[in-house]
Amino acid sequence: MTTETIKLYDNDAYETSFTATVLSCEEVKKKDGTLWQVCLDQTLFFPEEGGQSADLGVLGSAQVLDVQIKNNVITHTLNQPLASGSSVTGQIDWEHRFYNMQQHTGEHIFSGLVQKHFGFDNVGFHLSDQIVTMDFNGPLTWADAEQLEWEVNTCIVSNIPVEVTFPDKAVLSGMEYRSKIEIDGQVRIVTIPGYDVCACCAPHVHRTGEIGILKVQSCQKYKSGVRISILCGFRALEDYRCKQKNVIEISTSLSARQETISDSVARLKSELAQAKLQLGAANMQLMQKKIADIPATLAQVCLFEENIDTDLMRFTVNELVKNHPGYCAVFAGSDADGYRYIIGSATRDTREIGSFLRERFQAKGGGKAEMIQGSLTAPAEKIQELFAEV
Ligand SMILES: [Zn+2]
Repeated sequence: MTTETIKLYDNDAYETSFTATVLSCEEVKKKDGTLWQVCLDQTLFFPEEGGQSADLGVLGSAQVLDVQIKNNVITHTLNQPLASGSSVTGQIDWEHRFYNMQQHTGEHIFSGLVQKHFGFDNVGFHLSDQIVTMDFNGPLTWADAEQLEWEVNTCIVSNIPVEVTFPDKAVLSGMEYRSKIEIDGQVRIVTIPGYDVCACCAPHVHRTGEIGILKVQSCQKYKSGVRISILCGFRALEDYRCKQKNVIEISTSLSARQETISDSVARLKSELAQAKLQLGAANMQLMQKKIADIPATLAQVCLFEENIDTDLMRFTVNELVKNHPGYCAVFAGSDADGYRYIIGSATRDTREIGSFLRERFQAKGGGKAEMIQGSLTAPAEKIQELFAEV
């Protein structure tokens, strides 16, 4: 029976260093080298639990790469061994921990409000370094999410104390709280008065003001409910900086006001679609002229075009086969970048020339007797030589 680890983070989420005794150290072989799994009598390292990623930091001079919990025994994965029985000082990565605390307390307020206003449960929670998602078992609109977001931020600026308690079984049985499941051990209750009461094992901020801000990132249908992603505190600020940088760059390049850049992008897209249509029509006219100029006496035709789309290639081949009984081909591209091709014929089996192209130029593609298409890389001159031979 392995000794259960004393969870120092349970009582004080703000402590960053601690001393512990190494109870065991086991070598483990991994793909990318050897690692060591260490158990201590007590730890400040919060393990990956309840959807939240583990704390980072150091134990002595060893990096803590992962922290897992099983049957209340916490295992630290390290890049160096520690001597069993020795005393070690641990230091958690405070920035990482605090950012996680900001996200997690923010999530509690949001989920508490969802239950209060809509009666939906949080049925899935994920907190990584980049993203925080919450799944609710009922539908919420973007407008609902924004209203909740506003109310969470009202709670944040009210700077309400976050209370952590360990009520006994008798008190618990009469209490209303989220995540109420029967567990054997001591239940830890995190209360944000007026907003949320929830069973939770994770570290939280002392007062809601420390969350800074909560911003909803997205609200999407998920199973029979909704998945909402949020960011809080410094991670929300980093996200704001990233989005602002993009908005500034787009607005500068379009010479458009930041507030209305999406209108400018929509206008640009519609102009581009219009220009594409005009270009397509002009290219078609040019091609028709080119086709009309080809002497009718030619049995087969092999055209090379630099910029031509597949629709116009197919149109051209269909026009050519009306007047030329042999192979009629259009190659689009260049010697350097390779060619896409379409070959048609009214009288010959195009799959035959297709097999020559495969043999001589390792061409890819296929099709029916009347028409094949594919791609290859070869000089135009060599391709023309082949057409002269067949
Ligand atoms: Zn929680």
